[in-house]
Amino acid sequence: MLRQCYRCVNKVNIRVTPVNSTPKNLTLERNGRLFTTLLLMTIIERTTAQSDISKRFEEKKTVFQSLKIEPVSARKARLRKLRTWIKANQAALRDAMYRDFRKPAAEVDTTEILPVLDEIKQALENLDRWAKTKKVDASLTMLGTRSVIMYEPKGVCLIISPWNYPFNLSAGPLVSALAAGNAVILKPSEMTPNTSTLISKMCKEVFTENEVTVFEGGTEVSQELLKLPFDHIFFTGSPSVGKIVMKAAAENLTSVTLELGGKSPTLVLPSANAKEAAQRIAVTKFINNGQTCIAPDYVFAHENIVADLIKNLKEEIPVRFGGSDGKIKTSPDYARIVNEKHFSRLSDLLRDAESKGATVETGGQLDFSQRFFEPVVLSNVSNASRVMEEEIFGPILPIVTYRSLDEVVQYINARPKPLALYIFGRKKSEINRVKKETSSGTVCINDCAIQFLHPNLPFGGVNTSGIGKSHGYYGFLAFSNEKPVLRQRNGLTAFRFFYPPYTPGVQRMIGWILKLF
Ligand code: NAD
Repeated sequence: MLRQCYRCVNKVNIRVTPVNSTPKNLTLERNGRLFTTLLLMTIIERTTAQSDISKRFEEKKTVFQSLKIEPVSARKARLRKLRTWIKANQAALRDAMYRDFRKPAAEVDTTEILPVLDEIKQALENLDRWAKTKKVDASLTMLGTRSVIMYEPKGVCLIISPWNYPFNLSAGPLVSALAAGNAVILKPSEMTPNTSTLISKMCKEVFTENEVTVFEGGTEVSQELLKLPFDHIFFTGSPSVGKIVMKAAAENLTSVTLELGGKSPTLVLPSANAKEAAQRIAVTKFINNGQTCIAPDYVFAHENIVADLIKNLKEEIPVRFGGSDGKIKTSPDYARIVNEKHFSRLSDLLRDAESKGATVETGGQLDFSQRFFEPVVLSNVSNASRVMEEEIFGPILPIVTYRSLDEVVQYINARPKPLALYIFGRKKSEINRVKKETSSGTVCINDCAIQFLHPNLPFGGVNTSGIGKSHGYYGFLAFSNEKPVLRQRNGLTAFRFFYPPYTPGVQRMIGWILKLF
């Protein structure tokens, strides 16, 4: 696959990333045959990639049968090996994510490594119970039968992950898939190449090819993979690509889990503690440089608290991210925007908001060369500005003032269902009203984003923000076929009384049964 093409005067430097291997830099003399060579290389690479992908997939399908009948202890052994690798490679993980977007080491530990280790811990502690065949009671019409639910692995599963938490969102679903006993093909994001290459290395060192295969690369690799009849697809990414994935899955009637994005509103009620709310909003909005699917996207603050909230945000941001007077830029605690494309998108969003009357309350210093985007808090934001229409996915925090809760509920309900909804406040009646009258993937009260880390809560969106749930037991279920197995007794059965021919006696019996319900 051809990645980049930089032209010099007499030479052309190209960067070629073959599927499943490290990028190669080549320097070729510019001449008449150069572009033919490049074209041929691209075609050869692509054909090799396609056949490699199909070949690996077919191999996995063939050997899956042996994985399927393995005991739960074999799955656990795999997860233990993964845990050992992660612990031994903490420094390498920190280094890869620092090189990808200057992610601070502490953020790698807390938001990438810890959630995956916790997923593994939950699976190791609970897998015997999760995977155990469960008996179910017979209902009146089922008298005499015996039934169970078996949890069988779905088969060969595809995981496609995004760049914003590149390790967590690849390894987390991988744990669930392996806990459920599946074989996996994983495609990490091309936007964080250092982490993706490390994930590939990890899977080669920890698993056999039959268990897990990683295909690095971009859209074209994803598209090749999506043509194949996987047994489940677990996709994390944007709603627009989610639609592409779901359409492709429909061709093979493959089940999907879609972990998508969108705008997560944050409501600050007049009964809230402004200082505490500002602290929690600032931290969860600006860690990872705002590139978090469940970050508070924008804030609705009541008119009685909005000034206090903004004052506290202005104090809190420098405290958390390196100090005032431009010190954030040199702080090791503040990550960078992942690439130029996203940097330009975010600066356009900011310019658009300002041109439509938004006030910059704090921040907004930008340095394109370093992809440094200072945390920005905006007030007086017009509903027509792009920051109120698109998922921001960066360190811009619009604050909208509201007067009545009706406005807020109507505003949220008129838009796609959010992935997360946050409410700060003490007044139960108001909190309950918002919880009941709106719909969102998750709700968190008096904090943001931490619901993701709770191992016993299902995580996921609704409609445009996602389909299906993940994490812990719910992740295990996403990758399992809950197979009902019913055993009828020998001899006389309850159903015998309803068999045709439908004589008057049988019809009387049916009428009598219907009266019992
Ligand atoms: P993305 O949708 O652009 O890419 C995700 C993956 O899909 C990548 O591996 C990419 O290579 C692949 N892809 C991109 N275009 C494709 C195409 N046309 N066909 C097939 N595959 C394609 O998302 P992103 O930019 O990596 O991540 C940001 C988005 O992900 C945001 O919308 C964010 O809210 C969302 N997200 C959601 C969660 C969640 O848990 N719900 C977590 C993180 C990110």
